[in-house]
Amino acid sequence: MATACSSSSPSRGGGNGLEKLPNSSIRVLRTVPSLRRWRRPHTIDQRTVALVPTMGALHAGHLSLIRAAARANHHVVVSIYVNPAQFGVREDLASYPVTWEADAAALVKLDRELADDGENLGRISAVFVPGTGEMYPAGFPGQEVGSKGSFVTITPVGELLEGRTRPTFFRGVATVCMKLFNIVQPEKVYFGQKDVQQTVVIRSLLRDFMLPIELVVEPTTRAEDGLALSSRNVYLGARRRAVATVLYRALRAAEDAYKNGAQGRMTMLGNANSILRHVAHEQKALGPDKGVRFEVDYISLADPDTMQEVNVVDPAKGAILSGAIKMLPVEVPVVGEDLGHDGGPAVRLIDNIILHPAE
Ligand code: AMP
Repeated sequence: MATACSSSSPSRGGGNGLEKLPNSSIRVLRTVPSLRRWRRPHTIDQRTVALVPTMGALHAGHLSLIRAAARANHHVVVSIYVNPAQFGVREDLASYPVTWEADAAALVKLDRELADDGENLGRISAVFVPGTGEMYPAGFPGQEVGSKGSFVTITPVGELLEGRTRPTFFRGVATVCMKLFNIVQPEKVYFGQKDVQQTVVIRSLLRDFMLPIELVVEPTTRAEDGLALSSRNVYLGARRRAVATVLYRALRAAEDAYKNGAQGRMTMLGNANSILRHVAHEQKALGPDKGVRFEVDYISLADPDTMQEVNVVDPAKGAILSGAIKMLPVEVPVVGEDLGHDGGPAVRLIDNIILHPAE
């Protein structure tokens, strides 16, 4: 996570912990000592602190986590840190959206809304925006698979699915989350179901390292057409955006089979794959000046505790349907079309649906 280091990054305020977001009581904390100083009295007063870790470029999905955290805790800390350790060497770290001004404005607006709504226990008390020097005091160890340094690895779950395509991803996530948990010492942490495998990794981390923290997982926030909100959706131009729902539609087809009584992998994933094939075929038939190309990375039916693939859903446990696709760059514009982001690099999308245990 290269923390906000572009021109739109938060201005450096010396890290004394006294800086606030404009027109709000939200503290801007940049250093570990300033966060610890802020945290200490809340332990003594027995006020609960929740942490919502993010990489910024905040959207309604992030805000739903913050709302849930404010409902049940006295203080909410939102961290914004683009962690380089969870990006592969060839991934989009350099172009990951950094939108500090918009994020700050969104937090201030949401905090006012939380203050006006009497149902909340707390509000947004602080935003933690550390730099990489702060998060990696011995120096950033690097993004390579073989990088040496102090890492937290959670396997085998971290090697499956997302971890297969992105071998350093969960190592980076677990490492930065361990750091954030140790810095903030929250009673509860809030994560989105959007990144379901990440929630399984974090659950394992909390259990295996005996951290006294409760994990709360909030449902995926979606656009009206069903696309899961993601900071990376800004890379989709109009043409790719229109086709991007294909993954969710495929997962829904698999879920429908489960709801209609199917429990076997072949039936469920067969339904999902036939949607993917059908849409790919349709797009190909449109030709390169109208169609969109995408590659399927994986479609999975997995155990909810381990993310290992299952052949049959255990009705007592349920399962997780998940998938990842890569929307390839659009190559040929129609006459007069501005390809915008569609001409840019491939955009990887992930999504999932939880199949709940049978009643
Ligand atoms: P990110 O900034 O992408 O690292 O995400 C920060 C947190 O927001 C993670 O716990 C994500 O799972 C969660 N999140 C991202 N997108 C969504 C969404 N559409 N709905 C709910 N939570 C989300």
